[in-house]
This record gives sequence, C-alpha cells and structure tokens, in this order.
Amino acid sequence: MTVTEEVPVRRRPALSPSRASDFKQCPLLYRFRAVDRLPETPTRAQIRGTVVHAVLEQLYGLPAAERVPEAAHKLLGPTWAKLSEQAPELAELFPESDDLEQWLASAGELIDGYFTLEDPRRLEPEACELLVESELPSGVLLRGYIDRLDVAPTGEIRVVDYKTGAAPREIGEAKALFQMKFYALVLWRLRGVVPRQLRLMYLSDRQSLAYTPDEAELQRFERTLEAIWQAVMRAAKTGDFRPNKSRLCDYCDHKAFCPAFGGTPPEYPGWPEPDPGVETALDRAD
Ligand code: SF4
Repeated sequence: MTVTEEVPVRRRPALSPSRASDFKQCPLLYRFRAVDRLPETPTRAQIRGTVVHAVLEQLYGLPAAERVPEAAHKLLGPTWAKLSEQAPELAELFPESDDLEQWLASAGELIDGYFTLEDPRRLEPEACELLVESELPSGVLLRGYIDRLDVAPTGEIRVVDYKTGAAPREIGEAKALFQMKFYALVLWRLRGVVPRQLRLMYLSDRQSLAYTPDEAELQRFERTLEAIWQAVMRAAKTGDFRPNKSRLCDYCDHKAFCPAFGGTPPEYPGWPEPDPGVETALDRAD
C-alpha cells in the first residue's frame, strides 16, 4: 500500500514545509502567499526546477535498464512543451529562441549532475512526487510532497529531495533540512518508522547531503510545528501578520506591499478555506 492510499482526501487547513518555513521567516510573507495568494512571477530557475523534477519522475517510470542519461535528455523537450501548453504565459520568460535553447541546455546540465550522484538503474523507488498527509495528536494537519521515497526490503525508509535552485546554498540548507524533518515526521506518524536517511541532492553543485533523524529530535520538531501553527492561528484571527526584515527580503516578490519597505498590504481578506498551508508546484521544485 502506498502512503497516498493510506491518506483520505481532506479539505481543511494544513501546514506544508514551504508555508511553515515562510511563517518562520516572515509572518507577512506567509500571509501574502497563503492567505492573499498574491501572484508571484516565476523565474527561469524555478521553472527549470519544475521541468527537471518532472523529468526525473518520468525517468523512474521507465524500465530500470532504460534509465540512462540519453533517455532523461530526450524527456526534457516534451516536458517543457507540455508545461508551456498548460501555462502559455511561461513562454514570455524566453523572448528569444536562443534564450530557450540555453535554458534547456542548463536543465540538461542539472540532469547530468543527477547522474553523477547516483545510477537510477540500480534503484526501485516506492514512489515519486508522493503526497503525504498526517494529523498530529494536537490536531495540526501536515501535508506535503516528497520528491522520492526509497524503501529497502528490510523496511528502512529513505527520503530523497532534489535541489535545483539558484539561491546560495547556505541560505537554502537550513530550509531544506527543515523540509526534510517535516517529511520524516509525517512518515514516522504514518508508518511508525523513523526514516533511516534524509538525502538532499544538489544537482547544480553535484553534491549530496545525508542526514539521519532520531525520535527525540522529531518529537522536538513536532512541538516546533505545533507552535508555528498556533502562531498562524493567532495571527489568522486578527490579520496581524508582521513583517520580519532579513536578507531573505532580496528574494521576496512582495516588497511593494510590505510596510518594512514603505508599502501598504492589501486589506486582510480573512482566513481562507480550504488549504491555506499547502504547497504549490513551484515550492516542490525549488
Ligand atoms: S519584503 Fe521581507 S519583510 Fe516584507 S514581506 Fe517580504 S520577506 Fe517579509
């Protein structure tokens, strides 16, 4: 049985690793993304991440012997074509055909980076792009997507996350570990097994980072998530989501609405239903 089969579809507010991380970084950023749902302009790097994640997912849909670099490269063009058909505005990111060619080549380099880290012919993941959801005893609902789940014949679980982003690694690493602990906690709660390994694969750097969580740490992390959710709920009642200025503001799309930069937020629309904590495809492909 897969994890998604264990999970009934529910439509109620949930916390995702991306939104929890947003709230920790800046409550107002959380509000802009999860409550106001202000549009954000995707960057070429974000869309490249989406395409590369989709290619790797499809690669694992092929018979093991066929999972070679050439097969992955062949998937790139059609995957981009499908994405740009679903969201034609993405083509505006590439006004010149040369731009698109260079960008596809850079996506190909990430694919090559992946193949330097492992041989997919030797792996048989239990699932890719897996939706997991678990309710903590306190009632906080956690939800997110796992890039890949490997389960050994002995039952040991490995959670794999591909990182394709352009943000400096020292900024991304703490966020990435937060995200991985989130998934480890959800899987522990769902299956009663603490994942043996959390593996972050940095395709651009061609490096991976492995981390082994333990029960005591996940219990502490659970309390952290509960505290974050309680703080979200307190702010949700009044709309008092405060800005928290940091160097990460450089990556924020919403400075024009932010009081920390002289802007005025839109009127608080109230707590939305459903799912103001869930991730988007772009969050999953950072
Ligand atoms: S600009 Fe900075 S302080 Fe303002 S909402 Fe964005 S992250 Fe928060």
